[in-house]
Amino acid sequence: MPEFVDRSPPGECIFCRIVRGELPAAKVHEDALTLAFMDIGQVTPGHVLVASKRHAATLLDLTREEAGAVMQTAQRMAQAQQAAFAPDGITLLQANGAAGGQTVAHFHLHVVARHTGDGVSFAWPRQ
Ligand code: IMP
Repeated sequence: MPEFVDRSPPGECIFCRIVRGELPAAKVHEDALTLAFMDIGQVTPGHVLVASKRHAATLLDLTREEAGAVMQTAQRMAQAQQAAFAPDGITLLQANGAAGGQTVAHFHLHVVARHTGDGVSFAWPRQ
């Protein structure tokens, strides 16, 4: 089971600091409720995280409005990946809690462009 890499108090976690612009990130989309930025550990080119701007630890902590906004942003990111990389498929991954494979305790959804035979493994929790 993975360890949480960031157990900072709400408001001080890595992703809260990225939202506030206190830590660098390659931001690709921002709206009132969500922020999308490149994952620092690219599983495949264009690997994007869609995070809630408000600190919410997991899916269970999102409002219905935030949950809807996250999926709308994820679709925009998938469309951008389709245009940029012409992938054969796109994987969405969203982990909740250490047992669910989550390592940063601030809600985020992975959007990963896939090509046939890319060899990417999505064992949960990730190894
Ligand atoms: P999780 O394991 O599903 O919680 O995903 C956390 C993700 O956050 C991992 O894929 C990390 O590579 C990514 N990550 C951690 N720190 C940063 C950062 O500072 N910028 C962008 N991505 C990060």
